[in-house]
Amino acid sequence: APLILWFRRDLRLTDNLALAAAATTGAPLVALFILDEDDDPPLGGAARWWLHHSLVSLTHDLRERGLSLTLRRGPSAASLTRLVPETGARAVFWSRVYEPAALRRDGEIETMLRASGVEAQSFSGALLFEPGEIRSAQGRAFRVFAPFWRAAQAIVAPGAPKPAPTRLRAAPAPRSERLEDWGLTPREPDWAGGLRDAWRPGESGARARLDAFVEDGVRDYAAARDFPAKDNVSRLSPHLHWGEIGPRQVWRAIEGADAPRADIAAFLRELGWREFCHHILLDHPSLPEAPLDPDFARFPWAQDDGTLFRAWARGATGYPFVDAGMRQLWLTGWMHNRLRMIVASFLVKHLLLDWREGERWFFDTLVDADLSSNAFNWQWAAGCGADAAPYFRIFNPVLQGEKYDADGAFVRRFVPELARLDAHYIHRPWTAPEQKLREAGVRLGETYPLAIIDLAAARRRALDAFDSCRRAR
Ligand code: FAD
Repeated sequence: APLILWFRRDLRLTDNLALAAAATTGAPLVALFILDEDDDPPLGGAARWWLHHSLVSLTHDLRERGLSLTLRRGPSAASLTRLVPETGARAVFWSRVYEPAALRRDGEIETMLRASGVEAQSFSGALLFEPGEIRSAQGRAFRVFAPFWRAAQAIVAPGAPKPAPTRLRAAPAPRSERLEDWGLTPREPDWAGGLRDAWRPGESGARARLDAFVEDGVRDYAAARDFPAKDNVSRLSPHLHWGEIGPRQVWRAIEGADAPRADIAAFLRELGWREFCHHILLDHPSLPEAPLDPDFARFPWAQDDGTLFRAWARGATGYPFVDAGMRQLWLTGWMHNRLRMIVASFLVKHLLLDWREGERWFFDTLVDADLSSNAFNWQWAAGCGADAAPYFRIFNPVLQGEKYDADGAFVRRFVPELARLDAHYIHRPWTAPEQKLREAGVRLGETYPLAIIDLAAARRRALDAFDSCRRAR
């Protein structure tokens, strides 16, 4: 009898333990993907675009091995309840997803399948460690990254990735929906041009990214990773999120890179943050909604009629480094980590807007939108999360720009209306002499916005707000 291989966030054939185990049974396979309309939270716009193209790629890769991908829409449980009798399947295999709603759903599905005599097996593969595996000697969860990572490194030894099977035995393919009918990619308006230019979703695109990074990017990673105009970060995040490449594959490849040990260690540590985020989400399922630090529940957020938020989201705050980051996000579906920290701090501290608004915007616009990493990092940036930056440490976007984009190359790329301004003024155009602005074709308040907020006053207001919620304790 056939075995259903249920693809979810493991859209790859290499080092896919569920697939490898399924192939080993010798049973004919039905490859399945379900677009779950009950997904919680629902997929954002950029993620939907990514998923569409990743499924095109997976369909192609499976077909080369003799298998077609069956597409179904609906709540996962209902889809499986129909598909199991339709195919006569005796087992369903899948790779685990660790988000609270998915864990709940998968637990119910497992029980349901077993109750009807169908084998249900789940596999690891999205992470190096199972969430909850890394604990202190006393068995307690870590709230701080450094000791977490020390404990993790003591046991990390990712095995060799499993190669992709060359041929798969196919069961008769059941009816499939058409990917085009799912409407995952925008048609009118087609806003995805920048995404198409920047990315190649799917397993082979992921592999190409990793190879290019191993070749040219890891060397100097530790020092260069903070400079957004440089090409020294991997951009693997969306590929990792969708499981087009597994963390064990990345770990192995980076460890073998011809680069200084310090650069390799710095990169592997970032993979460690990804693991940490998943651990924290498992221990605190309310992470996406509720501040870990309870004092923040009464934080006096500013009232906004939407004007400030819109200026931030559209990259029209009048602070060039912030605006460049937000426009990079809108255009390409991704933002460099240094900028993510700066724009988050600007929203939460200078504009005093609730971090959850930023979290939602990122979730909708990032191709790597990930419940655990996004929620964790927003809480971190707001100062209310685990191992958080203290609230009183407030990034100054002008000084950050001058430090990490000294020649203004990054701002020039994403804020073209400032492209001809001297590096000396590009992070603070309001200080440029009239003549310099004229020569560069800049008219503040017309071609580029005036700053929407005074940094020094905003900083004081944020510190006062913070004090008030601490005092109320
Ligand atoms: P690299 O520097 O090449 O790092 C390699 C990998 O390590 C990344 O692909 C990612 O999987 C992991 N990683 C690196 N930094 C972090 C981190 N701080 N937290 C967790 N994992 C990390 N990352 C997401 O994947 N999804 C999100 O939704 C997300 N939201 C964020 C929101 C905010 C406010 C901030 C400050 C950060 C967020 N990050 C998120 C983390 C980080 O910015 C991205 O993972 C990173 O920029 C992706 O680029 P890269 O693949 O080139 O990273």
